Amino acid sequence: MSSSERQDPSDEAGQKRRLVIAASLSLALVAVAVVVIGAVSGGAAAGSTADGASGSATSATPRPAPAAAPPPAGVDTFDRAAHSLDEPNSIWVVVNKLRPMNPQDFEPDDLVEVDVPHTWDPMLRQEAADAVVAMFQAASDEADLTLASNSAFRSYESQEEIYDGDDLLTARPGFSEHQTGLVMDIGADSGDCSLDACFADTPEGIWLRDNAWRFGFILRYPADKTDVTGYEFEPWHYRYVGVPLATEMHENGITTLEEFFGLPAAPEYE
Ligand SMILES: [Zn+2]
Repeated sequence: MSSSERQDPSDEAGQKRRLVIAASLSLALVAVAVVVIGAVSGGAAAGSTADGASGSATSATPRPAPAAAPPPAGVDTFDRAAHSLDEPNSIWVVVNKLRPMNPQDFEPDDLVEVDVPHTWDPMLRQEAADAVVAMFQAASDEADLTLASNSAFRSYESQEEIYDGDDLLTARPGFSEHQTGLVMDIGADSGDCSLDACFADTPEGIWLRDNAWRFGFILRYPADKTDVTGYEFEPWHYRYVGVPLATEMHENGITTLEEFFGLPAAPEYE
């Protein structure tokens, strides 16, 4: 073989390599062009259907997919529609001077006797009764305090006997939260300051104020909310609403059901 003959195969091979490289570069350029055009036209198409604030129309950079991240801190995810505010059997039923019991002679069908110290036999709905027993036990275990019930469920008829004509102090029949079977007037077993504003300053009153939410209770008639609730401060009147709602109200510092649920203030009867 001559040197030129030997050169030919290598020249052919070199040409083939160059052709392959050129073809590859062309393909690569075409591919890049397709990608760029596709991205721009896709972005433009997306921009044409999105609202005017979209900044993606002229950008070929794809947006990151929205991640299923937890909501930012501070966003309220509490379900305010978890229970009815109107149904008399709901643990969230709101009863006030604008929202009477409906029907007015409603009586819960799951009333049970509550096995705690008392001045007269307390009856509550089962769930509230269980919570009271747990709360009284905790007061004993944690603070060596003995609580007692002064009043719990009251029927429409018994409220007729109790109503004394002073709308700031007692509810008219059919308007008492006690009729829900979710309320207990709580005092010290000693009887000190029972059903009196001074109960707020007793060890029992202070313990209840600070701990009742843990067991699903709220102090229903706070000292500074007479304009909202229609009642003077009642440091003994605790309403069961369940632990989730009591905790939510506690953590947010909202003290009345009317304010929490955005209901009208109920200072007076209509
Ligand atoms: Zn009461």
